[in-house]
Amino acid sequence: MRVYVSSDIEGVAGVATLDHTVPSASVEYQRARRWMTAEVNAAVRAAFDAGAGDVWVNDAHGPNTNLLVEELDERVELLTGKPKGLNMVHGIDEGFDAALFLGYHARTGTAEAVLDHAYLGSVGFDLRLNGVGYGEFGLNAMLAGAFGVPVVMASGDDKLAAEARALLPRIEVATVKQALSRTAARTLTPAAARSEIAGAVRRALGGERGANVLAPPEPPFELDVTFLRTSMADVAAVMPGAERRAGRTVRWVGDEYVEVFRACRALLLLGATAL
Ligand SMILES: [Zn+2]
Repeated sequence: MRVYVSSDIEGVAGVATLDHTVPSASVEYQRARRWMTAEVNAAVRAAFDAGAGDVWVNDAHGPNTNLLVEELDERVELLTGKPKGLNMVHGIDEGFDAALFLGYHARTGTAEAVLDHAYLGSVGFDLRLNGVGYGEFGLNAMLAGAFGVPVVMASGDDKLAAEARALLPRIEVATVKQALSRTAARTLTPAAARSEIAGAVRRALGGERGANVLAPPEPPFELDVTFLRTSMADVAAVMPGAERRAGRTVRWVGDEYVEVFRACRALLLLGATAL
């Protein structure tokens, strides 16, 4: 069994504020990356215990260099650094049997959700596919689904849990904290969170996995990216095939989900040049 792990930080137990997630020499970030690494190890060990023979871990937050490689379970292969073409799910393909989304967070605009955003939070405001809004969980899960890979387990706060279950009702979720606001939470300790995560991984990999393939909707795909500012849409609208739909909204249409996912990434990166 081959298992793919996409690892973010906002949904890690103990993480509640930007001090925990913005890479720097700050004490809080340096603590949070250790909690993140320990949660990944808990999931990975449970995956190997459940029969995995090959586990890839993608460090998928910010600079993608958060995980302490010297502290990771020696059996994993780590995808570190950026850019990686398919971003938080780079390298996933039909050869994987299951994916785990660890430390994930709710989409932009969710009330009382720890550090809600989608990808470049200072650039993108709303991401819609065929009229339906998605966050990182949904868009990444559909990318896995485009390759037939089920997302069998996720971890994060209670709002991430609700978002994940709304898309995949049978997913196993380790809820490691209850969000009180965008920057406050009632959290498990790291040790308790590791137990929750390991249990969820064991149940997920031991159960029926197929129900957790999130298929993208029927093509053609209409992707609408709404930016925080019109200046960002001005730049993003330069993208070939892009159509300016509104002051802050640019549309891109395609027939292949992987291409739409790449277009979403490209539009946000273009918008970021107007920061
Ligand atoms: Zn992140």
